[in-house]
Formats: sequence, structure tokens, C-alpha cells
Amino acid sequence: MSSGVDKGGPELTALTAAPEAADTLTASAAAVPRLPLWQISRLRMATDGHGVTALVGSYGCPLNCKYCINPDSHGSGGNYRLVTPEELLELVKIDDLYYLATGGGIMFGGGEPLLNADFIAAFRRIAPKEWNFYAETSLCVPKKALTVAAGAIDHFYVDVKDTDAAIFERYTGVNAAASVFRNLGALLALTGPERITVRLPLIPGFNTAEDVLRSKERLTEAGVVNFDCFNYRV
Ligand code: SF4
Repeated sequence: MSSGVDKGGPELTALTAAPEAADTLTASAAAVPRLPLWQISRLRMATDGHGVTALVGSYGCPLNCKYCINPDSHGSGGNYRLVTPEELLELVKIDDLYYLATGGGIMFGGGEPLLNADFIAAFRRIAPKEWNFYAETSLCVPKKALTVAAGAIDHFYVDVKDTDAAIFERYTGVNAAASVFRNLGALLALTGPERITVRLPLIPGFNTAEDVLRSKERLTEAGVVNFDCFNYRV
């Protein structure tokens, strides 16, 4: 997924390909998983993760956040192309030396990348072992995706929005706070707390500093140890 915290990178490549029908997103169920790829942002530094990373943005997201900075990453009429793990490797290995020299690798974003957990796992199997793998996710995904992702991602950045169900629904347009927090608990059990950073935004017009503090306290009780608290710029 992508959020208002994505600081972008020095080189942004919008992928231009013929729009596919929305139902082709289900192609991930095929024998060879394919990623609905809508952008690659190369040579990112001092953003998420460690070292130099390439942001691999996938198309599709179940949420509709009011301040989404990547509205083109979801909805109808999307501009993306389906790629195999081998095809993605061809696109990102150009920066292999930067990943190796800095301890960097690949950041999966979107949209919601964990909708493509099978693809990420398949990609990791063919990518150089030294690369690190990150994902920026809302965790608004089927629970079975968590197990697959936990085996393929080194560190998760979870954009929680807010733990208050009403605020969450008002901001995202979806009544999914309960399932998201259940998924966070499940992911904590799978990975342990050190592999997860929870992002807690102050969202103008939607929550307050007190709401952010309350969310942090709740999540600390739930076992979260790494937080990134910040303000959305709107
Ligand atoms: S979760 Fe989806 S709608 Fe919300 S900011 Fe990320 S990509 Fe946009």
C-alpha cells in the first residue's frame, strides 16, 4: 500500500501499458503468480527500510483513504501491467550493486501489496539472497496472506490510520478496523514485534493528537514496539 507518508524517490517510473480489465487482478490465482505493476520508483534513500530501495507499486487497494497520494493505484480503469517474478527481476536488478552496497533491496507498496503475497514469495525465491524485502501495508487483507508474507518480508511498515473504528471508517471509507487489528495481532504472532513498524498519522480533519496517543497506548499494550508518528501534509 501507499500512504500520505510516501516521500517518493529521485526517479519515478510510471508504467504505461494497456489497461487491463479489473477482473484480471484475480490472475494471481494462476500457477505463475503475476503482479499488477503500476509503478517502480528506483534508488530511494532515507525513506523506508535500509539503504537503497526500489519501490515496487502494485495496483489494487480495498481502502479509499481521503488523502491517498496514489489514487491512481486503485479503483476502476487502472493503468498497470501484469508481470511475472522473472519479469520484475529484470526490471529491478539494474540497481543490484546499490542494494548490495547499502544493505537495501525492494519495498513492496501500492495499492495494497499483500494482496499479492504469493507473488512476493515467488519473487523472493528467485531474487538475490542478499537483498532485503520490505512491505508497506494497511493489513486490510485476507488472513492467509499474512502467513505467506511473513515468510517473505523482512520488515513490515503497517499504516494503521487510527485504532478508533469510527475514525478509521470515516477516513478510509471502509468498516474494517476490527479485521485490520486482528491481522496486526496475527502478524505480531508470526514475526515478533521487531519486524514491524506501525505508522500512526495525525490526519487533519479526521483525528487529533489525543487520538494518536490513544492509538499508541492501545498498540503498545498489544505488543507493538516500533512506532512512526507523523503528520499528514494535506
Ligand atoms: S491504503 Fe490504499 S487508499 Fe489508503 S493510502 Fe494506501 S493505497 Fe491509498
